Amino acid sequence: MIHPDDWPLVETGVADALVKGEGFDLDVRLLDHDGQVRWTHTQAEVECNAEGKPLHVRGAVADISQQKAAQETIEQLAYFDPLTKLPNRRLLFDRVRQAVAAAKRSGGCGALLFIDLDHFKRINDSLGHRAGDQILIEVAARLRAQIREEDTIARLGGDEFVVVLHAVANPGAIRRAAYRVLERLSGNYAIAGHPYHLSASVGVALFPADGDDTTELLHRADAAMYQAKKEGRSTVSFYQPALQNAADERLAIERGLRAALIDDQLELHYQPKVLDGSRIVGAEALLRWHHPERGLIAPGDFICVAEETGLIVEIGAWVLDAACRQLAVWNRDRPPEQQLVMAVNVSPVQFRNPDFVACVERAINAHRLEPPLLTLEITEGILIDKVEETVARLAELKALGINLSIDDFGTGYSSLNYLKRLPLDEIKIDRSFVANLIEDPNNAAIVKTMVAIATTFSLHLVAEGVETTAEAEFLHALGCHCHQGYLYARPLPAEDFTRRYCQETP
Ligand code: C2E
Ligand code: MG
Ligand code: MG
Repeated sequence: MIHPDDWPLVETGVADALVKGEGFDLDVRLLDHDGQVRWTHTQAEVECNAEGKPLHVRGAVADISQQKAAQETIEQLAYFDPLTKLPNRRLLFDRVRQAVAAAKRSGGCGALLFIDLDHFKRINDSLGHRAGDQILIEVAARLRAQIREEDTIARLGGDEFVVVLHAVANPGAIRRAAYRVLERLSGNYAIAGHPYHLSASVGVALFPADGDDTTELLHRADAAMYQAKKEGRSTVSFYQPALQNAADERLAIERGLRAALIDDQLELHYQPKVLDGSRIVGAEALLRWHHPERGLIAPGDFICVAEETGLIVEIGAWVLDAACRQLAVWNRDRPPEQQLVMAVNVSPVQFRNPDFVACVERAINAHRLEPPLLTLEITEGILIDKVEETVARLAELKALGINLSIDDFGTGYSSLNYLKRLPLDEIKIDRSFVANLIEDPNNAAIVKTMVAIATTFSLHLVAEGVETTAEAEFLHALGCHCHQGYLYARPLPAEDFTRRYCQETP
């Protein structure tokens, strides 16, 4: 019952072995009467006479179908992603290695396309993991339909996929293929009968031009994908060496930040908030990182990485606690009417963390702070997504009794509708409007409008980035009396702030 397709192979193998007078060891795939595949293992020895002529064959045939099935299951698990049935990371590495070796042998080229779905987390968060899984399966199907049979599609995990384009005619063909993938993945996906729009970001690394080491090539395609995200998502970006430097830098910052939390390398500086040109009413806490090799690093150089890695949650909790502790010290000997207020910046990632409200409450309680003395500065970016959730969270924060301020006002979400809906206390005019206030009539008009908005909604108004007396006077004339900026003081270490503003007990 050997299937005719298999027989010639067996015959040749056995015949060769017999002619050479050697034994043989063969796995044979057979079809039984029911059309089921069975595997047999045949091991045989050939006995020869004195002249080396085969006399007879002795051996055994065993049914190894079960072992074969188990082996296939193991291979499936070890090399394929159970959800999409695509090759997994391990098999991908193998395929890339082969593809690179083949390209080098033939003098040809190929490419890795690193694909990441845009905002996929939102689907998991809002529609649930089953919906997320459905989309991943659909993505795999779309990729299969788009990619040549000889190419490899793998799922790295999460919403990350990699396509290996083997032996491509020229770089132009790679570009076309990458854009076709992008186009194919973008569009509506039906989930539970509803269309859901999705797009992807694609990073491309070429081989052997961008490297011949598998890990390195993947990193490079990943760095290019990050660049595509940065360029606004739903696009293709090609690896450039500069990207790798940026990716290395990100990694170094991420590692360094973990150490910073443990080794106490973070510090807060405080910039005074000044009312009517001279009265200090409070301070904004601004984070600094004392890097062991690089010296003092400003938040602009690391907050972004802290947000991407989620480290901002822990860092933010540290900032809240440290700022509240400092405020309690400064206010200890001040009379009630001269208590200082403290403003703390909050990142959108931190704001969305489920523990955030409790974290604020812990900081207030730990230092026995009057809640109205704490102001949280949030940015307009918080309002773009999940408005209902944001409104609910702000209400919870407000219920603690603290104040809420919109930082960098006017630079983000342009709708003013939210001002009516949200329990806000303060807006901070972004420094870009204060700069050139005098020379640029546009900026003056904008600030004027902001003063009107603050009045309409009964909001406290602060101007940030006030650098000159002329700007301060102009702001006063427009009706904005609370300022922050280099004109009064740069952000100061706590001791300097204490020495300058808190030494003579009022
Ligand atoms: P921001 O909250 O708008 O803070 C004001 C920034 O303007 C600070 O930069 C401050 O040093 C700077 N500044 C103040 N006065 C002047 C001035 O007169 N002229 C100019 N040119 N600049 C002035 P810094 O400290 O580098 O902070 C940058 C941003 O980093 C902050 O902007 C805030 O968004 C963020 N940040 C700072 N600390 C934290 C923190 O603890 N947590 C979070 N999530 N973000 C923080
Ligand atoms: Mg701020
Ligand atoms: Mg600001």
